[in-house]
Order: sequence, then structure tokens, then C-alpha cells
Amino acid sequence: MKAVRLEATGELRLREIAKPVPDARELLVRVEACGICGTDRHLFHGEFPSKPPVTLGHEFTGIVEEVGASVRGFARGMRITGDPNISCGRCAECQRGRVNLCVNLQAIGIHRDGGFADYVIVPEKQAFALPDDLDPVHGAFCEPLACCLHGVDLAEIRTGSSVIVLGGGVIGLLVVQLARLAGATSVVLITRSAEKRRLGKTLGATATADPGDSDIVERVISQDGLLPGGADVVIECAGVAETIEQAPALARRGGTVVILGVMPQGAKVTIEPFDLLFREIRLIGSFVNPFTHRRAAELIASGAINVEPLISRRIGLSEAIEAIANPARPGEIRALVVPHLG
Ligand SMILES: [Zn+2]
Ligand SMILES: [Zn+2]
Repeated sequence: MKAVRLEATGELRLREIAKPVPDARELLVRVEACGICGTDRHLFHGEFPSKPPVTLGHEFTGIVEEVGASVRGFARGMRITGDPNISCGRCAECQRGRVNLCVNLQAIGIHRDGGFADYVIVPEKQAFALPDDLDPVHGAFCEPLACCLHGVDLAEIRTGSSVIVLGGGVIGLLVVQLARLAGATSVVLITRSAEKRRLGKTLGATATADPGDSDIVERVISQDGLLPGGADVVIECAGVAETIEQAPALARRGGTVVILGVMPQGAKVTIEPFDLLFREIRLIGSFVNPFTHRRAAELIASGAINVEPLISRRIGLSEAIEAIANPARPGEIRALVVPHLG
């Protein structure tokens, strides 16, 4: 079978490798679609820890082709989404229920072979069923949606909350929708792209703003601004130093800032601790998808989340390397690898 292999930092190759064989508790899954994520680009550039050589791709959906001898919950022919993050269940963090913080965390597509391939191995406990009639490309949004769900859960958005979403990429546009579903009545999307601001409005943003405008913070929090006094919740989805630095100032007194965007490991920003203290801002990180993948699958299966406008292009495995090695194209939201396209 064909697989997109990270051989070393900065070195991706399309290789012919042996079709994997599932062990007793695993599924062999024929990949239908796998999203290209900013994390794949960080992995390529050595900005996110991994273990090459490995097949990349952690946002996949596909059809079960073969089941291990002990598998009971799945059968050949079923469509599944895989939760790529495999925790050990035994370490102190797992035993506290904080499985995303597992010290032995192994991720499909990062530490073990992933979904930019004709086939991927998925442990049964990481698989969640999707409907037969779902567009498989939509199924590939379960993983990023599960990560967004964790961020929205940590933010404790309530009915009537006000929310600012920084960044109009796939994460930002999923968070806008989740914030509305969680009951937020004001959702302000702040992103540079006019096209993404327009799309954000169709997906539930009640207002939008351009972070490049002079004094964007004043324009939002001033008495005649979009959210006078600031937002209950600010969710940073861009992974950009400038917006992380803006985020506390956009929160109201006692408000919450959630960091969901991924910045390169080692990058630094400037934050004013006195401001966090004086206005009692809660600043929290949100890492991957602890116990949220099933809910994400249900949200995708039910159609409660609109992912169709987030799909920018479908490409084959042979085009994946160029797409991962380069920044997303201007205006691109999500490129998806569909292995059977070639
Ligand atoms: Zn991802
Ligand atoms: Zn663990």
C-alpha cells in the first residue's frame, strides 16, 4: 500500500509499504479521508514532538476491512472515525481521569502510523461508528471537532455567554458553531480574512472584526464597542503570538481565556501577570480530546455541525507531501487527503 512517511524532520516521502496486519484488539481500516492539519506542518518542520519514521495523518475516517480475533464492537464494512490519542490507563494522570495528559500518550499519525495511507490500524477502543450514509470527508472532521469540544468544555460557556473567537481557520469556525450550540448569544469572530469573516457569520458568529484594524481591543471592549467590558470567554484558535497576547485584554473581569491554537514548541509571548491577577483572568490551555470523540462523532453524524463550507480541496496521497510541506494556500480552510484519488 501507499503511505506518506515522515522519514526525518523536513523529509516526507510517498512510499510503498506492507499492508499492516491488525492484532487481536485492532481494526484494519481502509482510509476514505484524512484532514491535513497545522500539526502535520509542525511535525514536518520539527516544531512538534514525534518519532519518525512514521506515517502522518491523525484526522481520518474509513471503512473497517478486517477485525482482530477479540474485537466485538465492530464488523467488516462499518464506517468509523478514529480517536488518534491512545492513553495508557495506568499512569498517575490517567488514574486521575486526565487521559489527554497521559505520560505515555501515543498518537496515531504522530508516534505510530496514521491515515495518510491506503490503510491504518486502529485499536478497537479508539474507534467510533459513523453512519453508512455520511459523506466520509465529513467524518474526517471528528478529530478537530473533538479537540474544540474540550476547549469549549474548559471555557464553561453558558446560555447567554459572550464569546470571542480569535482565528478563522477550521478550529475557529468549529468553535464558533460549538459556542452557539452551547448557548452563547454573542459570538465575535476576529480574523484577518474577509472571506472567513463572511463565512463565520453564516456559521453563527453574531459579529466579526479584523485584528489588523487599529486598536482592535478598544473597538471590542470600549463602552460603544462590540462587547463593552470584554467577553466572558475568549478562545484563541489561531496559534499566533499577537492574538495570544491580545486575548486577556479582550476578556471581561473574571473572564476566561482558553489557548486552543498550537504555537511552535519553544515560541514565547508577552503577558502581563498584574493584569491577570488584578482582573482575575483564568488563562487555561486545552490539549487534544479527552473523552470528547464520541460526542464529536455524534455531532458530525447528526449534522448539527456544518463542515461542508470548511472543505477547501480534496487531494490524493501523491499531492499530500506538497500540501503538508507548504503553508495552507491563501483562503484555504481544510485540505483533505482522499487516498483513492491517487
Ligand atoms: Zn489535527
Ligand atoms: Zn497514562
